[in-house]
Amino acid sequence: MQYDYILIRYGEMALKGKNIKQFIIRLQENIQQKIKEFPDAKVKRTQGRMFVLLNGHDPEPIMDKLRKIFGIHSLSLAIKVDNDLEKIKEAALYALKKNEDVRKFKVSVKRIAKDFPVRSQEMNQVLGKHLLTNTEDITVDVHHPDLELKVEIRLEATYITSSVVPGLGGLPVGTSGKSLLLLSGGIDSPVAGYLAMKRGVQLEAIHFHSPPFTSERAKQKVLDLTKQLTKYGKSIKVHIVPFTKLQQEIFREMPDDYAMTIMRRMMFRISERVCHNESILSLTTGENLGQVASQTMESMHAINEVTNYPIIRPLIAMDKQDVIRISEEIGTYETSILPYEDCCTIFVPKSPKTKPRKEKVNYYESKYDFTASIEEAINGIETIKINDEKKVEDSFTDLF
Ligand code: ATP
Ligand code: MG
Repeated sequence: MQYDYILIRYGEMALKGKNIKQFIIRLQENIQQKIKEFPDAKVKRTQGRMFVLLNGHDPEPIMDKLRKIFGIHSLSLAIKVDNDLEKIKEAALYALKKNEDVRKFKVSVKRIAKDFPVRSQEMNQVLGKHLLTNTEDITVDVHHPDLELKVEIRLEATYITSSVVPGLGGLPVGTSGKSLLLLSGGIDSPVAGYLAMKRGVQLEAIHFHSPPFTSERAKQKVLDLTKQLTKYGKSIKVHIVPFTKLQQEIFREMPDDYAMTIMRRMMFRISERVCHNESILSLTTGENLGQVASQTMESMHAINEVTNYPIIRPLIAMDKQDVIRISEEIGTYETSILPYEDCCTIFVPKSPKTKPRKEKVNYYESKYDFTASIEEAINGIETIKINDEKKVEDSFTDLF
């Protein structure tokens, strides 16, 4: 006896009209893509549901993959047996025993095949009795069961499903267009990327790198974080921008207290150019209101001036503890807290303006021509594609 398939429920409620079809097709593709290392497993659609036919594969590693796919509301393992009383009894017992912590259970039989000789009510009792006699320390509780065994006797076969495992919810990645994530290597931006993906966004990432002030290790850290994000979606392109020269120029030519603001504006300008080249329609950042000097209302106002692109800021109103909790859950925290040199911390001015004024920023910027250095940075971008399956090191060897 073994599980035959995994039932997938998606929260269809929030979707309307033709979105539903796009949603379902994308979800099916995303699932198929994530489980392609299990060659016999197949994803099928039925009315309002989806299921993975296991065809002999062990369900656990496949469940692990499915638990990381956005758009899935919940999952249940299921067994398919012939409409034969003895076989149904055996399968129900198997499903109950597989759920180790269960002390109280309930059986719910639905008989759709009216030619099956035992009626639903009677079947509930027959199965309940069979399960009680073949287990220890387990009782029936119809009001507060730990586990509800659902038995559906259909025309073609009987399906038995047990515990409901929650999925991640959200929308399938790829249903909401693309966004360019400004990825720093800190705690916040990977979480921001994850939350954007949860709304169906396909990411590319951009990282501003300032060698030799920031090391190869700092860059590797960003690639590792990206790799962790691909577990929740598809492969992600990372654009590494050589930022040293421009940054040095800013800190040499601009007043110290405005250098941070101007540096951020340069990041947005360059990001916008990448968006333009890659047909991306928005930016995503890990900015959080009031956290640091560059993230006051005045500062965001001054920085935002340089771009018309919508900026997704999923963390804008979140508490730091909540951001940390998510980063732990999604597996980016360990990498994010590794010590590394951030281009922003290396060039940190002694007293950045917490309330920069737009007029002043524009005035200072007009005093120096950064065009050549901006173009040089853009021309020097190195793009690395990170896949879920491949090791990060492999992606490097692809390039050189
Ligand atoms: P994080 O934890 O993401 O580093 P932070 O709290 O340190 O964020 P800031 O340093 O003010 O905040 O950065 C704000 C946002 O700007 C980051 O979340 C990220 O989106 C972007 N950013 C900062 N530095 C870089 C960088 N070197 N490359 C790409 N994006 C960056
Ligand atoms: Mg940071």
